Amino acid sequence: MDKKIFIRGVEFKYNSKDQYEKDGHVFCINCDTQIDGRFLNILGKDVVVRNKCRCEVKKEKQYFDKDKKNRISILKSNCFDGIESLKKYRFDFNKSTNSKEEILGINYVNKFNEMIKENIGLLLYGNVGSGKTYLASCIANGIIEKYLYEVNFRNIPQIMNDMEKRGFDIDKNYYINKLCSVKLLILDDFGIERKTEYITEKLYEIINMRYIKKLPTIISTNLSLKEIQNETESISLKRIYSRILEMCIPVKIVAEDRRIFESKCKIEKAKKYLIDN
Ligand SMILES: [Zn+2]
Repeated sequence: MDKKIFIRGVEFKYNSKDQYEKDGHVFCINCDTQIDGRFLNILGKDVVVRNKCRCEVKKEKQYFDKDKKNRISILKSNCFDGIESLKKYRFDFNKSTNSKEEILGINYVNKFNEMIKENIGLLLYGNVGSGKTYLASCIANGIIEKYLYEVNFRNIPQIMNDMEKRGFDIDKNYYINKLCSVKLLILDDFGIERKTEYITEKLYEIINMRYIKKLPTIISTNLSLKEIQNETESISLKRIYSRILEMCIPVKIVAEDRRIFESKCKIEKAKKYLIDN
């Protein structure tokens, strides 16, 4: 602000590097927007309101977009906890050839605030390689990008590892509390291989706490729905499963193996190059 003029007797300062004066008003050098605006009387003193020019508005938007991008990037890193490859799975919201599993996932993302209200999670079950992890990752990325919500994507061995790393109960509790309080928790590849009483107990704690807090959980598993519904061997597992069935809508994933699908696409592409002309 190295220059000033008087507009109807009121002092108005401006920067001659970016702004110029013409006919008693101040304008932006780049976009010619008039900078001096309305008159206001503040505590008995007349002031001239300073307008934002188009360049300033654009700059602010760029700053906001960059800030949003940074926040998304941090949220994704925290979500996938080092599993970089899952960050890239995203729905194409406008594609007409989305599979019915993808459409379900897209609707889940678009209606996520309603899902929170009703505490609706998903139980994605199906064979190995049916694309459950892909679908769950797309949902996680979609929710982060659309709402900037905190999402955690974990599998059971990861949780066990993380717990073992934390020697003190206070650290363990902090870790569990975190899983209990994020907006969406995704437990991938759910199935307790090493059925230790301790980890089963902790998993129940997490799932039950989310149930009480009314926060949705998505679970993907290779177990069949029957196995989940009819667990009789272990009481503690039965307890977990019945909670899951209360919170999550079972969705059978029959999508083609993603790897097979990807290699098929490659073959189609190659055919196009080699045969069509
Ligand atoms: Zn401007």
